[in-house]
Amino acid sequence: MTQSSRTWTARVISLFPEVFPGVLACSLSGQALEKGLWGLETIDLRQYGIGKHRDVDGPPIGGGAGMVLRPDVMESAITDAMSSVSAPWPLIYLSPRGRPVDQELIAMLAAANGTTLICGRYEGLDERVLNHFDIAEYSIGDFVLSGGELAAQVVIDAVVRLLPGVVGNAASLHDESFSSGLLEYPQFTRPTMWQGKQVPEVLLSGNHAKIAAWRKEAAERVTRLRRPDLWRKYRATS
Ligand code: SAM
Repeated sequence: MTQSSRTWTARVISLFPEVFPGVLACSLSGQALEKGLWGLETIDLRQYGIGKHRDVDGPPIGGGAGMVLRPDVMESAITDAMSSVSAPWPLIYLSPRGRPVDQELIAMLAAANGTTLICGRYEGLDERVLNHFDIAEYSIGDFVLSGGELAAQVVIDAVVRLLPGVVGNAASLHDESFSSGLLEYPQFTRPTMWQGKQVPEVLLSGNHAKIAAWRKEAAERVTRLRRPDLWRKYRATS
């Protein structure tokens, strides 16, 4: 099978597989899922639990609040998840301790054949599992969620819209925030006059070169003001 004929697949390890596809069933990602432009497989962590009660967690060694997901249980789930992957694909643990998710990561994941996403719960994973499987940790922001499922859906949504055929007009992907290293320029639609506020004249001019120049300048301005970190990177590379 060639790379292009494979269907990009998200394989998700979670204690709550029933929350998938969740928001991914709506709109673009939902239609694309129905059309088979991408695939979703969930792995129920509970199935790998130990004993009659299928225990998946234990108290933190050394004391402290909460529970930690057991390494042996997680190992069985990850081994199963990776066993049917012919070529290695990214293995990610959604974690507030991870590197920030950005568009570069999303593009890298979209270029692979799929991604296995591990959703933590409670106090998260035993550190030894992360080292043993060389799992990459990624965070969707500097805040703490109750579980990794919402974070996984965020990542999957962002990847799916980059897959061929998902977004109707692929040109809209080129212009949007982060694709050029800048935040997107301001957008307007009809009516051209609303609440006494007029759409910038240049956008009504029909002059594509002037419109492109206005948008570039506006994108640079908004990036400089709102995201000095992105602005510095952009200036260094452009
Ligand atoms: N004890 C962990 C800590 O302080 O870093 C927080 C665990 S959190 C309550 C439970 C799970 O939610 C994590 O294992 C992770 O999978 C997920 N999670 C929480 N915040 C996240 C974030 N900002 N990005 C990605 N996943 C997150």
